[in-house]
Amino acid sequence: DPRIHGIKTKIRVVPNFPKPGIMFQDITTLLLDPKAFKDTIDLFVERYKGKNISVVADRFSFCPSKIDKGTFKGIEARGFIFGPPIALAIGAKFVPLRKPKKLPGDVIFEEYTLEYGKDRLEMHVGAVELGERALVVDDLIATGGTLCAAMNLLERVGAEVVECACLIELPDLQGRERLNGKPLYVLVEYQ
Ligand code: IMP
Repeated sequence: DPRIHGIKTKIRVVPNFPKPGIMFQDITTLLLDPKAFKDTIDLFVERYKGKNISVVADRFSFCPSKIDKGTFKGIEARGFIFGPPIALAIGAKFVPLRKPKKLPGDVIFEEYTLEYGKDRLEMHVGAVELGERALVVDDLIATGGTLCAAMNLLERVGAEVVECACLIELPDLQGRERLNGKPLYVLVEYQ
């Protein structure tokens, strides 16, 4: 699809962020371009519209913002960008998956390992019902730990995860392999 190339050119790669050796895929530059941003959403919507999906789940993305004496602290500031517009366009509900202690109601949680640390995802009890068809969305798949935790949360409450959808895949990290055979759709691969 010719739109993919345009999307790819808008993702900025920042070397050595948040620490030496990491090539950080920065999607904020994609968001600055309304055409590329819309193309991104449209491509997902075209794929999932009419597929009877009733839930779109997305997490707050990990946005590194502080490095303090070598410790790396994640601050959530880049989340919920792709999930909500996709959910609206396909007529599904949107379910946020959040970092610990952010959701006010009763939650269930899953622990996961990030590319640079350990964390936990929480979801409101009752947000997703037995038998719902769900799509899990994230901006990027690295080791696959995050998507795996998200999928587990949905499956634990009896939803069927139809597919995982990501804007960017880092195939070298073989995150796909952690998805237990669940299909993964990505727009851009970064080698
Ligand atoms: P995984 O759990 O190892 O697959 O890591 C995926 C998560 O880490 C995604 O939700 C991303 O937000 C974040 N992440 C890892 N590497 C990058 C990057 O280079 N750019 C942006 N986000 C990243």
